[in-house]
Amino acid sequence: MGNYVYCCRECGRTYGRDEVRYLCPDCGPRYRPGQPLVGVLEAVFDYKLIAKRFDKSKPEWRLFSAVEPKYYPNFPVGGTPFFKVERLGREVGLKNLWIKNDGLNPSGSLKDRASFLVVAEANRIGDKQIVTASTGNAASALAAVCAAAGKKAIIFVPKNAPKAKLVQILLYGAKVILVDGTYDDAFKLSLEYTEKRGGLNRNTAYHPLTIEGKKTVALEIWAQNDFKAPDAVVVPVGDGVIISGVYKGFWDLKQAGLIKQIPRLACVQAKTSDAIHKYIMTGKYRNAVKPSTTADSISVSAPSNAHMARRAVLDSKGFSLTVSDREILAAQALVARTTGIFSEPAASAAAAGLVKISKANTLGKNAQIVLLVTGHGLKDIDTPLAGLKLPRPIQPILSAVKGT
Ligand SMILES: *Cc1c(COP(=O)(O)O)cnc(C)c1O
Ligand SMILES: [Zn+2]
Repeated sequence: MGNYVYCCRECGRTYGRDEVRYLCPDCGPRYRPGQPLVGVLEAVFDYKLIAKRFDKSKPEWRLFSAVEPKYYPNFPVGGTPFFKVERLGREVGLKNLWIKNDGLNPSGSLKDRASFLVVAEANRIGDKQIVTASTGNAASALAAVCAAAGKKAIIFVPKNAPKAKLVQILLYGAKVILVDGTYDDAFKLSLEYTEKRGGLNRNTAYHPLTIEGKKTVALEIWAQNDFKAPDAVVVPVGDGVIISGVYKGFWDLKQAGLIKQIPRLACVQAKTSDAIHKYIMTGKYRNAVKPSTTADSISVSAPSNAHMARRAVLDSKGFSLTVSDREILAAQALVARTTGIFSEPAASAAAAGLVKISKANTLGKNAQIVLLVTGHGLKDIDTPLAGLKLPRPIQPILSAVKGT
């Protein structure tokens, strides 16, 4: 299509798609490593054209796509299940609760959506090597899409990333650089690497198409919900790119006249990784001092997309809350036993938030609420295993089977 420009919300300047690659050339240089990014770009489409051409009976999703489908890797992502969860709803006291299960993406997390679009962009501009820093899921997603597309993935991960994520990355054939430091350190190092040694950088929010990729989850929710926007979406937040992507998807639909109102976005962060939460509550930004949550995918000191995430929550008339690791693990078990969905700790943070939202009656009992499940539980079994007691083996005779 090419029917979009990049816009910097900080200075309002716009750029053609091939004039810029990462941050706004004017605002980006104000970014300091160890702080949120400045001048993150947003793709602004020709919404009049979309309004004229988009037909619900035959949806042309490429109207919303920042990369032409002919460049897409042959590796389907998205199209994940969306369905009502009555048992979980009854358990927490909500009458109209739904799940979008993005743990069922090919590499097991919503990150596949962003990696897919950045690899499509690499196909378009002819880049063979893609670089990223990640707590684990962006890395396994990029490694998977690169494997399918025949590209080289170079990946910087903190050394404490869960084993399953590392195994995925290695099996997919990516080059892994294990950083003796935090995710924030890996982020910094990967930027320096691409600057000095080349390759397309896929760092979350730094490459604007990560947001565009993630927005497809909102477009799908809308379509699967009979082309209606739900009342609210509950999102687990680390760097603040998923929540910005969800907002962007609904914002696009609103600009095109396809929905009237953007759902209220509930931002859920871990208590020790709460920089965006505090920013929303106080209007002042400060790094989280020592993120130590077991929900590794949302553990970050300086969330790269803090500014856009805050705007997404405020503009949607949303709100923000934090949850403890204990609440996260309890919610993980609750979701598993009432829905059959095993979600990783970071994804379960949203469910923990949902429990609080329901208790406080923030959205009422009848609102249509979507719980966004962002990652599969098998990505990290050590965390829930610590709280479980495995049964002892018995003799294979019926009399040894007790209690049932
Ligand atoms: C990355 C991730 C998040 C948080 O997304 P951000 O864009 O960093 O806010 C939540 N859950 C899972 C499973 C993730 O992989
Ligand atoms: Zn700018």
